[in-house]
Amino acid sequence: MTNPIYSSLPTTIFEEMSGLAGALGAVNLGQGFPDDPGPEAIRAKAADAVLNGYNQYPRMAGAPELREAVAAHYGRAQGLDLDWQTEVTVTSGATEALASAFFGLLEPGDEVVVFQPFYDAYLPLIRRAGGVPRLVRLEPPHWRFDRAMLEAAFGPRTRFVVLNNPINPAGVVLPEADLALLAEFCVAHDAVAICDEVWEQVVFGDAVHRPLIGFPGMRERTVKIGSAGKMFGLTGWKVGWLCAAPELTHTLARAHQFLTFTTPPNLQSAVAWGLENSGDWFREMPQGLARSRDRLAEGLRREGFAVLASQGTYFLNVDLAASGIVEPDRDFALRAAREAGVASIPVSALYEQDPVTSILRLCFSKADATLDLGVERLARARELSRAAG
Ligand code: PMP
Ligand code: GLN
Repeated sequence: MTNPIYSSLPTTIFEEMSGLAGALGAVNLGQGFPDDPGPEAIRAKAADAVLNGYNQYPRMAGAPELREAVAAHYGRAQGLDLDWQTEVTVTSGATEALASAFFGLLEPGDEVVVFQPFYDAYLPLIRRAGGVPRLVRLEPPHWRFDRAMLEAAFGPRTRFVVLNNPINPAGVVLPEADLALLAEFCVAHDAVAICDEVWEQVVFGDAVHRPLIGFPGMRERTVKIGSAGKMFGLTGWKVGWLCAAPELTHTLARAHQFLTFTTPPNLQSAVAWGLENSGDWFREMPQGLARSRDRLAEGLRREGFAVLASQGTYFLNVDLAASGIVEPDRDFALRAAREAGVASIPVSALYEQDPVTSILRLCFSKADATLDLGVERLARARELSRAAG
């Protein structure tokens, strides 16, 4: 009596691990969220908007002030020329933006190229929209794709590709050459790219995020998705957006109007204010996170763990096998939570076929003391794992 696309699914790994961490009082380096409350000035704007602002339905496509602020931000930060009136739609988080894109654009039988590991909402939404995922398997340590991998995945029925860049969980910011290669395939196959760029501002050091929509031939065939949750470290707010050429936007907005119709007006106006008054935020926020990344990486290395590079996102990956842990990632993650009091994300949960089972994702957007305690507990978990093995 139930639909197997959803009834056969486990609870998301993020909910499972945060649930375990809550129940056990474990340090939570699993689900990706900061443990500080987020920028106070933006929260103050939201509070003021709740008390003194407009609290009824905003416009379906989003508050004009936020749509304008999104277009202006991408003009400043990424050199894009979006028309806020015809090319920007506000959604309830990137997740609803993804759902609007899949439900609005896919037709039954369309093939959709998806890279794994993936953000776990992609496949159930694509299938519910009638799409057929064609998976490209990325693997550590570099998590890159090449021409042969794309040739194997793209075919005559390919209509879409879903790209997450910077990549969660890999922590990779794709170089220009890889994006140009993907753009070449999209143009050659007349495919639309659905680009989940929620991590676009969380990029460290010399790495540069380049939006696929800016590549030759992509301006009219890209749906660019962003989220205030990641831009401002306010993950619970669920304010996101879709940017696309007018024809795509028209259709996406029709899907969005029957999913959520709209997004809390007070949060929209606070995010608009944040984008217009960001000051040094987009320079300083990644610098602070890079310090946390380095603290976690150094602590782990001191304990003898093998750590992969992270150029962006809130995440650092540990190579379990190279760290002397023979257990598969999920078993180790459960042991670490239950027996050592530290929650993490086993990356195998983000594959559907032929999972990589030796990578553990850790979230470093946390206070120093939390990171240090996490390292101590992971070292303890490794001892317990060795003793058990
Ligand atoms: N895509 C990716 C790659 C993500 O990491 C996340 C959340 N961390 C989302 C989408 C969902 O974003 P939102 O919370 O704005 O729905
Ligand atoms: N994207 C977040 C992460 O990677 C989780 C979002 C969620 O829990 N749905 O941790």
